[in-house]
Amino acid sequence: MYNEVINGIEATLDTMVRVATRGTDRAVLSMAHEDVPRLVDAFRSLMDGHTPDENGCCRACARRRALFGRRHPVPCRLVLSARLALLNARHGAHSKHAMGNTR
Ligand SMILES: [Zn+2]
Repeated sequence: MYNEVINGIEATLDTMVRVATRGTDRAVLSMAHEDVPRLVDAFRSLMDGHTPDENGCCRACARRRALFGRRHPVPCRLVLSARLALLNARHGAHSKHAMGNTR
């Protein structure tokens, strides 16, 4: 079951990258309208609940605290990773535009 789910996610992401990097303008535009909002929703659902509790610790990660005995201050590792990924994605896009390579 796990492998089927992961393989489905990977296949979808691979298709999106392939379309974004080598697709026709029409395919890229279609993906932007249809798939990017779903990707954003998925991204937001992953971050859902990773908000500070009354002690300044991540609520979602606090559930794991009982297992690992550690506190997770906000922003937690997941939120920082998400932010870094978005910054890297933006930086990569700017670098490609600066070099005249937009695709
Ligand atoms: Zn967290």
